[in-house]
Amino acid sequence: MSDAADTPKSHGRLSIRASLKPRDLMEEPRLVKGAFVAKVITLFPDAFPGTLGLSLTGKALDLGLWHLDPIDLRPFGEGKHRNVDDTPAGGGAGMVLRPDVVDAALRHAREGTPVDRARWPVVYLSPRGAPFTQATARRFAAAEGITLLCGRFEGVDQRVLDHHRVEEVSLGDFVLTGGEIAAQAMLDATIRLLPGVLGNAASTEEESFSDGLLEHPQYTRPAVWEGLEIPAVLQSGNHAEIAKWRRAEAEALTRARRPDLWEAHQRRK
Ligand code: SAH
Repeated sequence: MSDAADTPKSHGRLSIRASLKPRDLMEEPRLVKGAFVAKVITLFPDAFPGTLGLSLTGKALDLGLWHLDPIDLRPFGEGKHRNVDDTPAGGGAGMVLRPDVVDAALRHAREGTPVDRARWPVVYLSPRGAPFTQATARRFAAAEGITLLCGRFEGVDQRVLDHHRVEEVSLGDFVLTGGEIAAQAMLDATIRLLPGVLGNAASTEEESFSDGLLEHPQYTRPAVWEGLEIPAVLQSGNHAEIAKWRRAEAEALTRARRPDLWEAHQRRK
């Protein structure tokens, strides 16, 4: 008798995740050797893959170019009701995720992952975190995988974040009800940078932020729409002129819309 776990399906594929439950061994997803792994600790595992299952990120998921491992926080909860939260110390509204519960989930996620945070970032999605940027996405994409902890309610007990040396990263200066949307946004930005995910690799080099500038405006057919024409230079076929125009537009846009980026761009020159 042989089961799926010890029958290699095809060359170049490998099962890497260890699990507490032997039953899981038979259900281990197989993935392309060296594929990026995203472990997401969440009270709402059904939210995944969500939009990540669509289009290019979804195709890459199907091809095994990356692997998604949603980890349900609930089973790590306390008692019959699997409680994961309690009232904030010092009083106030809402609930806070318990350190012992989050610790158990982080320990589970840690299995089989390198301790070096450069090789495997461990991130709590948090409005108090460092702002997520294209540079963060590049750093994440250069790792072997990532563990993302999605908060809910008022957030997570600080002690467990400190104890596990968890990095806090924010999607922006606004407050979401949970970390799941932030996790998906950050994973989307990261996964599209992985080798083989985008058909045309050059497109990640030219787009917004890659050069510290916003991207130039884009146009497509029809050539005239509602009486509005595509800028003539884009139809000239003169590639040097097109590149010059795009650069000038990118600079003008960045200057007008994002003085912060423009200033940083000027300083780098
Ligand atoms: N009381 C917290 C907000 C909690 S919001 C505070 O004021 O800082 C609930 C959860 O949503 C958080 O634990 C976090 O995981 C997630 N979240 C909310 N806003 C976010 C943002 N801008 N970026 C990333 N995660 C966010």
